[in-house]
Amino acid sequence: MEPLFLIGSKVIQTIKQQGYEAYFVGGAVRDFLLQRPVHDIDITTSAPVELIEQLFEVTVPLGKEHGTVIVRMEERSFEVTTFRSVSDGRNTLLEDLQKRDFTINAMAMNENMELIDPYDFCRDLENQLIRAVENGTERFVEDPLRMLRACRFSSQLNFEIEKKTLDAIIECRSLIEKAAVERVITEFDKLVKARSYSRGLHYLLSLGLTQHLSFLKGKEQALEDLAAMQLQNLCSLEEVWAAFLFVDQTEQELLNYLKAVKKSKSFVQQVIRLLGALNTYENSGWSNELLYEIGLENSLKLGRLLFTLQPEENHVHNEQALIRWHNELPIKSRRDLNLNGQLLVQSFQKEQGAWIEQLLVKAEKAVLAQTVANDPKELIAWLMKEREFNDEGE
Ligand code: ATP
Ligand code: MG
Repeated sequence: MEPLFLIGSKVIQTIKQQGYEAYFVGGAVRDFLLQRPVHDIDITTSAPVELIEQLFEVTVPLGKEHGTVIVRMEERSFEVTTFRSVSDGRNTLLEDLQKRDFTINAMAMNENMELIDPYDFCRDLENQLIRAVENGTERFVEDPLRMLRACRFSSQLNFEIEKKTLDAIIECRSLIEKAAVERVITEFDKLVKARSYSRGLHYLLSLGLTQHLSFLKGKEQALEDLAAMQLQNLCSLEEVWAAFLFVDQTEQELLNYLKAVKKSKSFVQQVIRLLGALNTYENSGWSNELLYEIGLENSLKLGRLLFTLQPEENHVHNEQALIRWHNELPIKSRRDLNLNGQLLVQSFQKEQGAWIEQLLVKAEKAVLAQTVANDPKELIAWLMKEREFNDEGE
């Protein structure tokens, strides 16, 4: 048994010893049956949250109002939720399963890994179908985000969405406007990161969901293009977003756009830096200066992006070639430059000022272009000559 399930079994046993029911449920069961890696385990139980909190040494109140607490055991987390509620308070596993989004997510398993599937939902898993539990329209009205989850699961699992569920999404699609942008973006990110992103993106487009998501509206062509790219070459979400947003836009427009989708500051900076590097590349190709300016890690990202955006063109974006190139740069950072402000002040006999930074940048460029050797004497001599030349020109 996978270690995560082994520890989870102990959580279930602890709850059962108190006379309550507890089962593995949802995505963990689905992924276990599909033999996919399981990252997080949900446990559903008849026990109330207060009891769970008493029972385990370390718990984190996650959404107590929804009946959820996180139980920590052997350094792993388990999301333990009291049966998804019904009015009379006498909840059962059967009702809990009926309250879930899709049939493939509505199966349970006991601590011995025996499947509990009262509605025979595993048939949909075998047929690779995403089907809303019971009435699709009702499910999507209850929580419009589920429509996006359907597309995301199709992308992760390479499953088809069942016909009636598709019809229900088309009927309810405008409700997605109500969903919180953070939840929407989380689903979108999972969709584009997954193996069958092309399938997921085509569902978003063909179901008309894009027209009701403000961050995708009007970007249908860019999404089509994204769906046709070999995104598996990319290693990070920043690269995917940069590939998606690679069209003529000012930095301010990009900034506003990424802020509106509530991306973190560092994420926004990363995407903007990558797009800036793409622009530099478009203007002047690879150069010592570009590699120096953005560093090795970003150069590798840029290489992957170029390969993804323009696979037919023969760039020097091969990882090994870029690593070698970066290694052979005369300098890799300002620290490697054999020149500093102090030496400049001594040599030029001038007071400190903005001129120092200007000369350091000039020296960096000259060393990178291999116009001058990275040697203090030669650098000073060259800078002096340049200055005379410029002074004469004034
Ligand atoms: P993953 O963890 O890979 O994102 P998951 O299926 O485990 O996928 P979670 O968001 O972790 O998804 O939710 C766990 C389970 O809770 C789901 O499998 C599903 O049964 C139920 N669930 C989650 N979100 C919803 C929702 N919006 N509506 C109904 N049921 C939901
Ligand atoms: Mg999960």
